Amino acid sequence: MSYFSEIYSGVKSLLTGMSVTGKYFFVNLFTRKDVITQQYPDNIDTLKMFDRFRGEVIMYHNENNEHKCDACTLCEKACPNGSIEIIGDKKVNPESGKSQRYLVKHIYHLEMCTMCGLCIEACPQDAIIWGQDFHHVQYDRSKLTKVLNKPGSKMMSKSKAK
Ligand code: SF4
Ligand code: SF4
Repeated sequence: MSYFSEIYSGVKSLLTGMSVTGKYFFVNLFTRKDVITQQYPDNIDTLKMFDRFRGEVIMYHNENNEHKCDACTLCEKACPNGSIEIIGDKKVNPESGKSQRYLVKHIYHLEMCTMCGLCIEACPQDAIIWGQDFHHVQYDRSKLTKVLNKPGSKMMSKSKAK
């Protein structure tokens, strides 16, 4: 390829790329349609993240402060970097009379989490899900270690959990 045809090809490619950004810039400047740039943090009160956004791992609780976690530890085992610690215990279920494991604390180290989702995929109860909160800035690293089961919460009955 000759020297001049290479210059022509480079300029053409540059203008093609700039025409795409230019079109978005000028069209949206006048119509304000399809604006995708978020004016963060000015819109902090109204900003809603998409459902698919992976902000943090959270535990679902229903209106009665019940969760679905039975402390099986599968999420802890699935996590590749040790971001989850399950503390469980056993007690006798008064209905069945059998010893049953229950969750004491589901500890989540957000500061180490890579949002890979392996823990959520591994959970057979769908007890943990993605939360969309992304305001995680802290001066104290220890504040990023969270207990996912809420204070006073308990496991919901199997019929409700389905
Ligand atoms: S999303 Fe990945 S890194 Fe984060 S706690 Fe779950 S398995 Fe671990
Ligand atoms: S969150 Fe799910 S996988 Fe993890 S301990 Fe609870 S039930 Fe088991």
